[in-house]
Amino acid sequence: MDLYEHQARELFEEHGILVPRAEVTDSAKQARESARRLGGRVVVKAQVKTGGRGKAGGVKLAADPAAAELAARQILGMDIKGHRVGKVMLAQPVDIATEFYVSYVLDRAAGRFLAIASAEGGMEIEEVAASRPEAVARVHIDPAEGVTSAKAGEIAEAAGLPPQTVDVLVRLWEVLVREDAVLVEVNPLVRTKQGQILALDGKVTLDDNAAFRQARWSTEGEAHDDPLEAAAAAKGLNYVKLDGEVGIIGNGAGLVMSTLDVVAGCGARPANFLDIGGGASAQIMADGLSVILSDPAVKSVFVNVFGGITACDAVADGIVQALDTVRLTKPLVVRLDGNNAARGRAILDAHAHPLVQQATTMDGAARQAAQLATSA
Ligand code: ADP
Ligand code: MG
Repeated sequence: MDLYEHQARELFEEHGILVPRAEVTDSAKQARESARRLGGRVVVKAQVKTGGRGKAGGVKLAADPAAAELAARQILGMDIKGHRVGKVMLAQPVDIATEFYVSYVLDRAAGRFLAIASAEGGMEIEEVAASRPEAVARVHIDPAEGVTSAKAGEIAEAAGLPPQTVDVLVRLWEVLVREDAVLVEVNPLVRTKQGQILALDGKVTLDDNAAFRQARWSTEGEAHDDPLEAAAAAKGLNYVKLDGEVGIIGNGAGLVMSTLDVVAGCGARPANFLDIGGGASAQIMADGLSVILSDPAVKSVFVNVFGGITACDAVADGIVQALDTVRLTKPLVVRLDGNNAARGRAILDAHAHPLVQQATTMDGAARQAAQLATSA
């Protein structure tokens, strides 16, 4: 799970990393009050779980509380790479002398952590990494040893960071270990004109396997950026919004991913990704369909199920159940194969809904769904 910048900031602060004073709000009026409390001049920052907010206009310097209210009004509700801004963070502005980049990320292939650091941090870090990879240092970390002062010194030296960053590098490692993170990134880590080292932006990805002991970050009751993702999450479904027109439901991430490819191969684009999982019940199928059908971009729906633990008749029951509660306005192409496929097909045949068609192969079903979507 990714944390918002303001949550990452909180963790950094708890582990003794210097951060600007800041407040978070979902209202422009409150932003004015916050700015006043923070000394008037503030940076107003969109809180969305994606990078590149600065370039998208989601980070604005405001000279006084009235300007902060105006900036917050502009930023709240903004769409940044498909993420709607629901909250802004107001932070004290810092006199930046230099911007650095530092991160720790789990390197699964190497079975180690990897420190990535550069003396040329800031909003252009991707360009720096692409055009001059030698300006970005990569140092592996043995997870059993962690980042000691000596290791931090090695990282700082490899990246050309000043010696004052060593302490921050050690503390950032503590954040990763204590908070069960698989990624921590600070961009920019800055040296101020007064010589202090501060974290001005933070990204933290927590290890979902440790969620049981990090209950503090439970997303229950939290507003999702996308309302359909929120609805799906509330029902325990794995749903990802994409930008095409064929709604896709499958069981198991591998099958869903290959379904996306097959649909794309037929000249259509997937509108979403919905994995109903391994042991999908009728209820889960009904929930999944209702989420997909409420996406206005969807022109046709492709249900691709290979029955293993999941029995196809349960999936067919789920579809029929969903058709009772959701008014089907878009054609549905269903391909059932594997465990109890014949029974499942018979259930759908018996229901004989005019908008539901069945196909026996995945390729055939994808062609039908693509055709229906592109001709709609
Ligand atoms: P993003 O990485 O999503 O674009 P950042 O939080 O890194 O957002 O902000 C973009 C840029 O804005 C930073 O590189 C930094 O130059 C500037 N900035 C961010 N926060 C502050 C702050 N508190 N004071 C001064 N400048 C800031
Ligand atoms: Mg940044």
